Amino acid sequence: MSDTVFGKIIAGEIPTNFVYEDDLCVVFKDINPKSQTHLLIVPRKAISSIAEMEEGDSEIIGHLFWVAKKLGDELGLKGYRLQVNVGKDGGQEVFHLHVHLLSNFG
Ligand code: AMP
Repeated sequence: MSDTVFGKIIAGEIPTNFVYEDDLCVVFKDINPKSQTHLLIVPRKAISSIAEMEEGDSEIIGHLFWVAKKLGDELGLKGYRLQVNVGKDGGQEVFHLHVHLLSNFG
């Protein structure tokens, strides 16, 4: 488990409502939403960043996008953006990989 705020959320140390969860990932609302819908799709595995991913992580990371698609369908989003910040200079603040799902088209 990563020693980040998301690692603590996944470990249950910071109580958080999950919008969705499965064996590979959890999804919760961003605490500081930048869109009407702003969800974070976070792998349970503590991969710090896309820059640190290994080839074997491809399946997990593909799964994050599959979950984004399913949530987009379930929430009836007509369009959305999926954003992954990579590295400090790429705007990444929390070093536990995550995909932002952003939409103003609920
Ligand atoms: P990034 O800049 O891509 O690393 O994004 C980190 C995101 O995590 C930001 O949009 C923050 O608002 C969000 N965030 C930080 N702490 C929490 C938290 N405890 N619960 C939900 N979202 C959080």
